[in-house]
Amino acid sequence: MRIPIQSVTPATGSAEIIGWVHEVRDLGGLAFFLIRDRTGIIQVTVPKKKAPESVLAAIKAVSRESVVRVIGNIKAMEKAPGGRELVPDVFEIINASESPLPLDVVEKVPAELDTRLDARFLDARRPRVAAVFRIRSAVIHAITAYFEKNGFTGITTPKIVAAATEGGTELFPIAYFDKEAFLNQSPQLYKQMMMAAGFEKVYEIGPIFRAEEHNTTKHLNEATSIDIEVSFADHNEVMKILEDLIVATYAHVKDTCGDQIANLELADFTVPKAPFTRLPYADAIEIAKKKIDEPIKYGDDISSAAERAIGAEMGSHYFIVDWPTEIRPYYAMPYEDDPSICRAFDLMHPRMELSSGAQRVHQHDLLVQQIAKKGLNPESFEFYLRPFRYGMPPHAGWGLGAERLVMTMLNLGNVREAVLFPRDMHRLVP
Ligand code: ATP
Ligand code: MG
Repeated sequence: MRIPIQSVTPATGSAEIIGWVHEVRDLGGLAFFLIRDRTGIIQVTVPKKKAPESVLAAIKAVSRESVVRVIGNIKAMEKAPGGRELVPDVFEIINASESPLPLDVVEKVPAELDTRLDARFLDARRPRVAAVFRIRSAVIHAITAYFEKNGFTGITTPKIVAAATEGGTELFPIAYFDKEAFLNQSPQLYKQMMMAAGFEKVYEIGPIFRAEEHNTTKHLNEATSIDIEVSFADHNEVMKILEDLIVATYAHVKDTCGDQIANLELADFTVPKAPFTRLPYADAIEIAKKKIDEPIKYGDDISSAAERAIGAEMGSHYFIVDWPTEIRPYYAMPYEDDPSICRAFDLMHPRMELSSGAQRVHQHDLLVQQIAKKGLNPESFEFYLRPFRYGMPPHAGWGLGAERLVMTMLNLGNVREAVLFPRDMHRLVP
């Protein structure tokens, strides 16, 4: 019976393994193979003089990345991976791989990201790449567990919608029978409607679609958003949830993904410490003014260059709070004593924005005013405004980008490395 390669030890005796031919080395009298499965790598050593005919025939024919089944005796071998080697009695080619390979799985030849993504099925055979997605899975698990433990209800909202969340041009139009529809850019309006439904604490982990014509290392056209909305909470309370969640997620990865962290050579993987600094927007602008060449003033969005400059100064995760109302969405709640600023925040990693959130406007008439002020037509938001007339509780929430969370956690250079099959302006296949 097949056993996982990781559990093969010098004490195993005889073993059957099935995996991919990772590397081949022929030294004349001795042939060495590295065989890889999901769990690890083992050396298969064939002393040609002593090996059965069928084994000799198979090793002569086999190509790299073929799927093979090997049965034989395990011997301790200090220099081999895992301190053991397998000497085969049976070496069977289950499915041969074509040669040459479109991508080198052993990473001896570095490949461009585009080449890697074109052959993602091969790229993901690389232990370092597989490690990213094992950790991504652990991240989503930790986040889901946190929400379930803390009384949140998981919801699924439509991705085909009739209206933009925030207006603008960032929408992908689709043909929906005889109507125009769009792919949703955010579950914002729907999760707020579930506050009117009395759910009090909801979360959703799902796709968002942005037609922004960005070609950056941190934007995708299809991303995964981790969203929450909480009734009777203000912005401070949901910021607390967010920083707790970030800490719990890093801690879970550190506890459960040691091998993957080692694979990615993240020797200094550390769990961030809460509470994160709350940096007022006005102070963030002052830092950026001193540190970057491009002009920036109060009231501007924070550019990528400004983000990096402020991040370098802050050194670890932090929040930017107290944003000018004018540059935040209509649903962000202005402060009563100074409506020119609002109860909105961004969670920042030193490299980039990870999340945006706010206490929301829950008063119908104020919301209508704010929608109009943004140059949008309140009538096209009637489905959203209606619940605000029938007992909408005060509420707050945020959206956190899963890919940016994984990218910054694992120090990846490009957000595309945190998605199996990224969608960008030039990438629709595979
Ligand atoms: P940015 O200003 O960096 O483009 P944003 O402010 O437009 O981001 P939000 O609408 O605030 O993004 O979305 C909340 C979070 O969702 C972001 O902080 C980010 O982590 C993630 N996100 C949004 N758009 C994208 C995208 N195009 N690609 C990847 N992640 C995204
Ligand atoms: Mg944002």
